[in-house]
This record gives sequence, C-alpha cells and structure tokens, in this order.
Amino acid sequence: MYRTHLCGELRASHAGQTVTLAGWVNRRRDHGGVAFFDLRDRAGIVQVTINPDLPKEMLDLVADVRMEWVLQIEGVVQKRPDGMANPKMATGEIEVIAKSVTILNASKTPPFMVNTDNDLPDENMRLKYRYIDLRRERLTRNMVLRHKVIKFMRDYLDAQGFIEIETPIMFKATPEGARDYLVPSRIYPGQFYALPQSPQQLKQLLMVAGMDKYFQIARCFRDEDLRGDRQPEFTQLDLEMSYVHRDDVLNLVEGLFTEMIPAVAPHKKLFSSPWPKFSYKEVLERFGSDKPDLRFGMELIDVTDVLAKSEFKVFQSALEAGGVIKCIVAPKSAEMSRKELDALTEVAKSFGAKGMPTLGFTAEGVKGSAAKFFKEEELTALKEKTGAGVGDLIVFASDARAIVNKTLGGLRLWFRDKLDLADKSMMAFAWVVDFPFFAFNEETQTWESEHHPFTMPKMEDLPKFDTNPGDVYSEAYDMVCNGYETASGSIRIHRRDIQMKMFQMLGLSDEDIQTKFGHMLEAFEYGAPPHGGMAPGIDRLVMLLADEPNIREVIAFPKNQNGRDVMADAPSEVEPKQLKELHIKFS
Ligand code: ASP
Repeated sequence: MYRTHLCGELRASHAGQTVTLAGWVNRRRDHGGVAFFDLRDRAGIVQVTINPDLPKEMLDLVADVRMEWVLQIEGVVQKRPDGMANPKMATGEIEVIAKSVTILNASKTPPFMVNTDNDLPDENMRLKYRYIDLRRERLTRNMVLRHKVIKFMRDYLDAQGFIEIETPIMFKATPEGARDYLVPSRIYPGQFYALPQSPQQLKQLLMVAGMDKYFQIARCFRDEDLRGDRQPEFTQLDLEMSYVHRDDVLNLVEGLFTEMIPAVAPHKKLFSSPWPKFSYKEVLERFGSDKPDLRFGMELIDVTDVLAKSEFKVFQSALEAGGVIKCIVAPKSAEMSRKELDALTEVAKSFGAKGMPTLGFTAEGVKGSAAKFFKEEELTALKEKTGAGVGDLIVFASDARAIVNKTLGGLRLWFRDKLDLADKSMMAFAWVVDFPFFAFNEETQTWESEHHPFTMPKMEDLPKFDTNPGDVYSEAYDMVCNGYETASGSIRIHRRDIQMKMFQMLGLSDEDIQTKFGHMLEAFEYGAPPHGGMAPGIDRLVMLLADEPNIREVIAFPKNQNGRDVMADAPSEVEPKQLKELHIKFS
C-alpha cells in the first residue's frame, strides 16, 4: 500500500496514529538540524517534520530533496505544541513526525512555483507546463468543483428520469452560427465529417427515437474568432425532453440549479427564487442587454417625455429622427474628472453613441456637459423621474432606441466595475423569453435565425413569415446570470412543413436543404413528438462559482488565447504520408 491517508485529510483526531503518506514537496524549510516539508496531494497539505535522530542514510537522502520531489513518508501524527498551530492550514493543528522517508521520484526545478498564486507566470508558460500548474491548490479546487457540478447534474437528472446518451463527435455540420471544424475522410476522398457545434440535431433525433428525456455532458466545437473568453471546444449540459411546453423545461433547469448552487458552492447566494422572467424587449429596455446583470440597480430610465421640448440640439435632432432619450443615474459620480469622463465618452462611442451628455448634481449646483441646456422645470422633472440627488451623475443617450439601449447597457456595466456595485457572492439567475425569431443581416441583406434553425416560432406568428418576418417571435429562451448568457434553448420545430419553411426563409435552396438537412426533414415524417430542451454551459458556470476571471482557469487543458495547445504544440504539421492518405494537397 502506497499510503494509508491523504495529506490534506489529517486532523487533530488522528493524533497518535502511524500513517503513510505520498505526495509532492510543496515547500522545504530547514531549522537548526530539523527539516520541515509541506507535503501536498490533491486533498491538501500537511507539515512533515524530519528530526535529526533518523538513521544517517535517510538523513543523507533527505538532504537532497527539493520542491516538487515525490516522497513517501511513514510517520506519526502529532498535535503541534501550544501556540504553534497554523490556523491558515486545514491540517494546521498537527504535524507528521517522519519515521522513514522514501524518494519516489525526483523533480527538476519547476519552471514556476505552484505553492503561491502571487506573481503568476505568463499564461503561456503555465499552459505549457499545465500538469505542474494544475498542482496549484486553487486549480485543484477548481477541478474538484467542476467534478461536483457535473456529478450533481448527473444525479439530479437521473432522479428526474433522464438518461445520459452519447452522440457522435464525427458527424455532419450542425449550425449554431459558427464555422465548423472538419475531419477529412480517408475512405471517401474529398468528403468530410464535421464536428458538431452542438448535439442539437442528434438530441432531436433521440426524441424522435422515443428516448423522452435525454442529457449529455457534451463537448461542442465551434471555429470562431477567438476574441473574448472563448475556447474552440467547450462543454455543455445538453438536454432535451419530449411532450413539454416552454415552462416545463425552464422549471426543470431552474430546479436543478437552485438545488445545485448551495450543494456545490455554499458560499454563493441565489439572487431570487423563483428566478425572474423577462421578455427580450423588457431586458433591452430596462438593462440595455439581453444578458442583464441583476446584482445591482441602475436601470435605464426613459426621459423622452420629460425632455421632449429640450433646447439641447443633440436631444432635439435625436427626437426628430424618431429616436428616444434615456439615461442612467450613477451614484457618487457627480465629481468625476474630465479625464475619466472623456474615457467614458469613448466607451459610449464604442457602442454607437455620437456623444455622452452628462448632468451632475453637486451641493453647489448642477454641472456636466448638458447642464447649461436644462430649464429649471426640466431639472425638477428629471430629478423626480430619475430619483437623482446630490452626488449623482445622470448619463444620457439620445439616438435610435437600439443604440440608446446598447450604449447605456454598456455604461451601466462600466459603472458596475468602477463603483464595485455587484455583490460577488451573488448568483443572479434569470430567464429571458420571447425572442424575435429572425435577425436581419444588414451586410448580406438576408434573414438569419436568431437562435438556431430548429427553433419553433410562436404558432400565432406563423402567418407573418412571408409578410413581416421581423415581427415573428420564437419559442426560444435564455438563462442568464451576472451578465452572462449561461444557457439557451427552445421548443423545437417537429413538423416537416414548418422546418422546410424555416430553411427556405434562411435562403437555402431546395438542393441545399436536402443535402444538409434531408435526414431531419425525413425524421419529422415518422411521428416526431413535440419536444424542447436547452444547454447550460458548464465552463462559464464553474468559472462564476469559482470566482475565476476566465474559463481557462476551470478547464484542465485549455487552448491559449490564440487557440493553441502550447503544451503539446497543436495544431501542428503532420506527416506527408498522412496528408496523402487523406487526399489533401497544399498548393
Ligand atoms: N443547441 C443549443 C446551443 O448549443 C442549445 C439548445 O437549443 O438546446 O446553444
């Protein structure tokens, strides 16, 4: 037996027991002939004390031991002397007095320290030596948390009658709005498999197959631009149910998350239970985003009526062009410096605003770029409508409604970060429903599906398909949390005629429809039941629960921000022979 206990599990109750441990040397200190090793395994760290009364050969061996060497220690657990306990360590009340030390393996000096998170090395360095980086307590904790999340999902869904079914990785293009990763076929020259952007089609086909309630911890592959916090492959809890309406799916997922958070992350609080439900229109109007952060207020306020007669040219011309005037009230920001306001104006412009008028209320009176344009009664009406008081800054946007909402939504998040308005221990889940069915792509002048092409439109909107597609709403829904979209889903089309119509609206030729999705249309002719589902993302959820700034910290072997695996160095060139077999030639 290599070990009788884990390093991190020893407590005062083990005092007096002889134990055998195995682990890495987290840190070594020498003190007047006595050596102290902090020995680390996945469960934690314990202090091992090597007294000078051990046999000389053993002491000679120990003399060489350095950080990250792998040791086996047999010793006796002993309570630390009074006043010597370390309250920062879970094992801090005890130490292990070594009776024998065996070196299981030596280690080169590691490229960076894992016993501290101070001065983290460059991320590429961490990823190159990920197997060392993962030894960090924080990352180990993240992996354990991820495991707990997934295990909870499996157990919960199993208890609800779901079955876990694997679906192929090598399949056919399943559009979710990104580019496909392709796998060339050796046996069929010139033909390719596509890696699924999600198991969407397969889970729907499982419903046609009568599986009723399906889930899978599913890997999805999307070849997207790598801006932001994205990975080429990521994990979703993919689920699908037959004979359900929208709220059946929402209730199931809400129940799962509401029970899971306290079980796996007791330090997190749920913002509200039941979760609030907003229409897409409402969240845009109130929060300027379809993934609102509800942990703080600062909602968008429509002041068009109050300022309808304003002398301020900027407002006038926006209204003449059919636009609106809205604002947010930033607390304690009336005295923001010119420099900060200039920087913020640039933020506003990045969302499409032409400028960023402000009005600050100070003890001495009003200030800000728009202050001089307001009449006394307008100021009074503004105060009343917005609730702004001394110390507050009103930030305006006047333009077309969509630009105004987007701008103020962006500025709202800027103030959140600057003023630290969001409670970090809060998980503010909410539902967003009633999405438009189509989005018009100005560039290509075509209609695209807002969700994915398998989403059911609202039945009552079907007649508008040909006349005013922009007014068609869908049976799609998003789950949002703390400003992130954490899941999306929908009730699906299960009728061939509607699915066909959808593909035609997207501009696909009959031939394209047949070659790309003929199998789906055919399946719908064989008794497809009504069905729906959704897919919460696991990486982002674990990131939020672990208080990490990006998803790479909760993925064992992520790609770097340029999409490379810097540990194995992938993607990489392959043997010419392999290319030949795959019928691939580079010109
Ligand atoms: N397949 C969708 C996605 O990956 C989720 C769903 O509609 O269930 O976003």
